[in-house]
Amino acid sequence: MQPTTATVVSAQRVNQDVYHVRLQPQQPLSATAGQYVEICLDNGWCVPYSMANCPVPDGELELYIQHFADGAACHQVIETLTSRKEVPILVDGQVSYQPDWDNDPLVVLSAGCGVSQSRSLIEARLASGSAQPVYLCWGGRDEQELFELPLLEQWLTDPRFMADLTLEQPPLGWSNSEGYVVDVALKRLSWMTPLERRRARVVMTGSPTMVDATIARMELAGFCRTNLLADQDFYQPRTLNA
Ligand SMILES: Cc1cc2nc3c(=O)[nH]c(=O)nc-3n(C[C@H](O)[C@H](O)[C@H](O)COP(=O)(O)OP(=O)(O)OC[C@H]3O[C@@H](n4cnc5c(N)ncnc54)[C@H](O)[C@@H]3O)c2cc1C
Repeated sequence: MQPTTATVVSAQRVNQDVYHVRLQPQQPLSATAGQYVEICLDNGWCVPYSMANCPVPDGELELYIQHFADGAACHQVIETLTSRKEVPILVDGQVSYQPDWDNDPLVVLSAGCGVSQSRSLIEARLASGSAQPVYLCWGGRDEQELFELPLLEQWLTDPRFMADLTLEQPPLGWSNSEGYVVDVALKRLSWMTPLERRRARVVMTGSPTMVDATIARMELAGFCRTNLLADQDFYQPRTLNA
């Protein structure tokens, strides 16, 4: 397991605690939409962050990184990315866009920073020749957990794409949806036939609690367990020899 060095192009805050990070790998790197980048710290920890864009050969990799006040690992990650010009990285992840996904509906259900992996998958999907629909439901507890997603407006002009934004505690004047991501999604997806539900790929990105609750509800609604995909089912922490 040999890390690749990446140049830190920029690391800029997009809300009160989320950084949008752009990395330029210095060597060719094999990466597929939906995978994650591990930031390798000096102490050997490899801290995973979903790719936010659809990677292209020799192109930049984008990440959205939340800086939790009490997070030991993410504190070191932010410190490293904002103070150094280069960082060692690895790429891994089983939940990645596959060519056969083009044949079926794609549903991405995201909480907070989880929209990172969703963005990567949606970019890959809309760049493909697939005529199948793709639906994003993105939510959070309150407005602080969302941030501007520059491509959203552009995606909404694509007839294959549908989206809902939802907050559990919306502020006055909030004109989008209210409630949990899975509730809003199931309401919106009522048009799907039993066959479409069984065939659809559903990618869930958020806290383990959000993902577990979403899997249970989606299964009850007729979605196929083997097509309900989340990194938490596959992720294995790894450490480099410090
Ligand atoms: C697949 C995946 C994708 C993720 N994508 C994102 C994302 O896009 N954006 C985002 O903000 N967060 C993402 N996260 C969460 C992120 O990796 C951190 O868990 C989060 O920032 C909280 O960090 P923390 O400081 O609380 O550390 P922790 O949750 O305690 O640790 C985070 C990671 O650091 C490493 N680590 C910590 N302690 C040790 C140790 N003692 N020894 C070895 N390794 C250790 C492990 O890899 C561990 O998974 C993702 C997590 C996973 C598993």
